[in-house]
Amino acid sequence: MLTDPFGRDVTYLRVSVTDRCDFRCVYCMSEHMSFLPKADLLSLEELDRVCSAFVGLGVRKLRITGGEPLVRRGIMTLFQALSRHLDAGDLEELTLTTNGSQLGKYASDLAACGVKRINVSLDTIDADKFKEITRWGKLEPVLRNIEIAQAAGLTVKINTVALKDVNDDEIERLVEWSGEHGMDITFIETMPLGEIEGDRTDQYMPLSLVRARLRKHFTLTDSDHQTGGPARYVNVQETGQRVGFITPLTHNFCESCNRVRLTCTGTLYMCLGQDDAADLRQPLRQSESDAPLREAIHAAIARKPEGHDFIIDRRQGAPALTRHMSTTGG
Ligand code: SAM
Ligand code: SF4
Repeated sequence: MLTDPFGRDVTYLRVSVTDRCDFRCVYCMSEHMSFLPKADLLSLEELDRVCSAFVGLGVRKLRITGGEPLVRRGIMTLFQALSRHLDAGDLEELTLTTNGSQLGKYASDLAACGVKRINVSLDTIDADKFKEITRWGKLEPVLRNIEIAQAAGLTVKINTVALKDVNDDEIERLVEWSGEHGMDITFIETMPLGEIEGDRTDQYMPLSLVRARLRKHFTLTDSDHQTGGPARYVNVQETGQRVGFITPLTHNFCESCNRVRLTCTGTLYMCLGQDDAADLRQPLRQSESDAPLREAIHAAIARKPEGHDFIIDRRQGAPALTRHMSTTGG
């Protein structure tokens, strides 16, 4: 088992398989991003080896993310390889966070690999606004791909970043629309990660406002639904679905943190909101045996910090952390 100095068992690994993306969401990336040279990336076999080492050490849930995970060439071979841990009963859940652009192509293969629930990020259902937010994306194929994924048997949850003066007028409509399609929806506050054009404090919208607005339109009751993650859920009586809230800035969710994050170059971040990291690529490549890798993982978990220090501060100007969310995965 991997237990950190604060007694939290680390049972959840999120893996960013690429820092590249076919969208350029305004809160996530700058328009002209420089990406890592492909040679720096762990191969799909190496990603499998690191994930499998974590599973051997007690990780029960793997989430593949990015950048956009489905733009990584050959990504299905990683899902196919990792599905053996589901078959063996060593892994409870293999899942994915995606922008949905390539989902139609892969939905049935994902389901065949034992993927059951996926998160699709969608901040608006207005085509013009979608273009504004994602810069390079188109709404219509994403909506179609969500339906294809559902038809393939995948349970889809929508993730929406709440953006002041951008999608705040759509909050109620998004909840209704998700309900009509049998999906839960989780709202997320913007986090100060990485340089972007513009000022994040202009986009920041506390979810207390979102919740207050929803209360005027819907009957909300607290839900005891827990995914082991930072989201707190309410049931929406009118739609029969749930709404989740992830509030990194207004609520500290670190006490129950059970996760660590691996980048596509093999760097392990023990906290999304801290800079400390451990290199796993060197121990991985040092030997065909996994012993050095396991040792490096144990040493990293022993340094997992108690919590993050996110703060969106207009006076400070710069992001709290220089790396983008696409590096560590959302
Ligand atoms: N490309 C995939 C997607 O968009 O779902 C996976 C990676 S993306 C980095 C994962 C999640 O992080 C998305 O839901 C995205 O909206 C969210 N995200 C990105 N930058 C963020 C930021 N600065 N603050 C809050 N959420 C952010
Ligand atoms: Fe790409 Fe996801 Fe970031 Fe949007 S949020 S730019 S889709 S990685």
